Amino acid sequence: MSKTRFIFVTGGVSSSLGKGIISASTARLLQARGYSVTIQKLDPYINIDPGTLNPYEHGECYVTEDGAETDLDLGHYERFSNTPTSQANNITTGRIYQSVIEKERRGDYLGETVQVIPHITDEIKYRIKLLAKKGEYDFLITEIGGTVGDIESLPYIEAVRQMRWEMGKDCLVIHLTLVPYLSAAGELKTKPTQHSVKTLLEQGVQPDIIVCRTEKHLTQNLKNKIALFCNVESSSVIESIDANSIYEVPLLMREEMLDVEILRKTRMKFRHEPDMSSWEDFLFRLRNPRREVAIGLVGKYVELKDAYKSITEAFIHAGAHNECKVNLKMIHSEHINPDNVRKMMSGLSGVLVAPGFGERGIEGKITAIQYVRENKIPFLGICLGMQCAVIEFGRHVLGFEKAHSTEFDPRTPYPVIDMMEEQKKISGLGGTMRLGAYPCRLTKGTTIYNVYKKEDISERHRHRYEFNNKYLADYKKAGMIPVGYNTKDNLVEIIELKDHPWFVGVQFHPEFKSTVMNPHPLFVSFVKAATRNNQTAKKPAKVKK
Ligand code: GLN
Repeated sequence: MSKTRFIFVTGGVSSSLGKGIISASTARLLQARGYSVTIQKLDPYINIDPGTLNPYEHGECYVTEDGAETDLDLGHYERFSNTPTSQANNITTGRIYQSVIEKERRGDYLGETVQVIPHITDEIKYRIKLLAKKGEYDFLITEIGGTVGDIESLPYIEAVRQMRWEMGKDCLVIHLTLVPYLSAAGELKTKPTQHSVKTLLEQGVQPDIIVCRTEKHLTQNLKNKIALFCNVESSSVIESIDANSIYEVPLLMREEMLDVEILRKTRMKFRHEPDMSSWEDFLFRLRNPRREVAIGLVGKYVELKDAYKSITEAFIHAGAHNECKVNLKMIHSEHINPDNVRKMMSGLSGVLVAPGFGERGIEGKITAIQYVRENKIPFLGICLGMQCAVIEFGRHVLGFEKAHSTEFDPRTPYPVIDMMEEQKKISGLGGTMRLGAYPCRLTKGTTIYNVYKKEDISERHRHRYEFNNKYLADYKKAGMIPVGYNTKDNLVEIIELKDHPWFVGVQFHPEFKSTVMNPHPLFVSFVKAATRNNQTAKKPAKVKK
C-alpha cells in the first residue's frame, strides 16, 4: 500500500458553497477508481463538538458509530462514500485547545511558552496525520470549515502551509470559490475568486486546483483567466455548476476530470476509469420515479433546511430504491392541535415524527400520532418520535391520564418514558448521552424482523430517556409490542402496533446509517408501506378527542 496523500479543501468568497459535497464527491470518484479514502472535517469554532449547538446554529448533529456528535457534513461523507467515520474525522478548535491546555497542565511542554505556532498548529497536524497513521487510506481529504480570511481559521491554514512544506507533492490543496453571475452586466465575474486566492496566498498557501461554484457554465477563456491570475493550470480550474441534486455532483466532477487532476498532481496511478455504474443506476431511479407519495415530517425545526438532513436524505435513498418520489411535507409540531389534525394530515400516505429535545411541540406530535394510529396511516417514530408514540398510547389506549416522559413532566403519575439509570448521575451536557452504536435483538415474526431480515442489528443512538419497563406488561397486553431489545441492559429499542398496517417506533436513529449504496431498510419499508397506503387510500375516520 502506498503512503497516504493529503488533500485539503478550503473555501473562499462565501460560506455554503458546498465544500462538504465537493469533498464527498471527490472521495466517491477516487473510490470508484479503486482507492481507499476517508474524509475529515476541521471546524474552527470553540465548542468541543456540535452536540451542544442547537439546530438553528448548526443544523443537524450527526452521530458516528463510535458515538461522536459531529458536524452534518460527516453525514454527507458517509452517504457518498459508504464508509463509516469516527471521532477522529471531526475536530474543532475547542478540542484542539482542550488537549493543548491539558498537556500544558500536565507539564508536557517542559516550561515552554505555549503558543498558537507551534503548539496549536502541531496539535492540528497531529490530528490530521492520526487518521493516516495506520496506512489504511490512499487519500485523506481534510475539509477546513469556514471561509479563508476568517480569523478563526488562520491556525488551520497555517497547518496546511506547514504540511505542504513538509510533504511536497503528497499534499494537495483544492480551493472552492464562487464565480457569481451579474445579470445586469450579463457576465460571470472572476474577481472574487482572484481575491480569495490572494488571501490564501497571503497566508502562504498556493492552491493546486480551483473549483468554481457557478450558476452558468464557465467558458474556456474564463477558466484561462482564472488560471492566469491564480497561478494554476487551466486544466486545474474546475467548474462546479448548480445541480438539481447533490448526488449529481460526483458525475459532474467526473466530467470536469477533477479525479484525473488529483491523480496527476499527487503522482498516483490511473488504475482504471471510475466505475460509477451503481451510482448512475441510483441517479436513474431518482430521476425516473414510477409513482409519488406524500409523507409528513412532524418536527419543531421544520423551517430549517438542515435540521433533519439525514432523515430527508434517507427518504431520497429509500424513494429511489422504491422508484418513488417522496414528497416530504414539513409540518410544524407546534401548529398541530386536535381541531386541525385531520386537515394537517390530509393527503399524507405516511407520517414520520422526528427526534428532538425539550417540550416545545410535544402535544402536537402526540396529537398527530393519535390520528395516524387511529386512521391506520403508516407511521415511523424516531427517538423522541417513538417516545411520543408510547406516551400517546399510554394516555389514549391504556387510560393513563397525564402519562408523560419525565423529561417534560417530572411529576407525571405515569412516567412511561423515564431517564436511563446510567444517565441519572451525569450532570454535564456535552457528550454525556447514550451515544453511538448499540446492538439490538429483534423478535422473529414481527414487522421489524421482516424489514431487517435478521435477528441481530446495530443502530446509532443519541438520547437520555427510555421506555419505562415498569409498564411493559400493560403495553404488551393492549397491543403495543416491544419487538427490539438491548439484551445487555434490557432496554426496549423498538415498538410496533399489533392492529396497524405499519406503525414502528425506534429509540435509535436509522437515518444516520442510510447511504446511496445502502438505503436504510426501515426507510425503504416505510416508503413501501406509504405507497401501499397511497393505492388503497380510504377516507380517514374522525379523530377522537
Ligand atoms: N429527548 C429525548 C431523549 O433524550 C429524545 C432524544 C432524541 O430524539 N434524539 O431521550
